[in-house]
Amino acid sequence: MLHLFCPDFCCASITDISVKWLKSHAVKTIILDVDNTLLPWDSNVPTAENVEWIKSLKNAGFRLILLSNNGGKRLEAICQTVDLPAISWAAKPLSLGFRRALHRLQLKKREEVLVIGDQIITDVLGAKQFGLKVLLVESLSQKEFIVTRLTRKIERAVIKKLTHKGLMPEGGEK
Ligand SMILES: [Mg+2]
Repeated sequence: MLHLFCPDFCCASITDISVKWLKSHAVKTIILDVDNTLLPWDSNVPTAENVEWIKSLKNAGFRLILLSNNGGKRLEAICQTVDLPAISWAAKPLSLGFRRALHRLQLKKREEVLVIGDQIITDVLGAKQFGLKVLLVESLSQKEFIVTRLTRKIERAVIKKLTHKGLMPEGGEK
């Protein structure tokens, strides 16, 4: 059971993830969480650095899609800024959103996909249940949706347990 909450990889932020590292792990497609992964929850604009990171990945031939439990005009604007498709109202950790993302990209090989997100209870659990590799980044902001603030408490307990068992992957640049 605990393995469903255990990320495969960890690092501080998305810009710590290099094209070289992704290629060495046979990643071809990235499913990217939005809030507190691509931009802070209370912001509408990704940083220039993050926009540049997405551009460099696209130029290197990776396919990316945003997957968010939110939606609406804010997500539409973010999609335009980074020029990426998105699945909104994904209901992570349920499989539905991940399934829709793979369907949108006409993708069958789950082993080529990497999910990137900042929450164990939604991103990691959802990806692992669906059989996808997942990388956990640190949350971009302490400001979060009220439900998220509650699930963070569970998350801290899970991380403590994973760390105690030596299961938590090493952080650092990729
Ligand atoms: Mg998030």
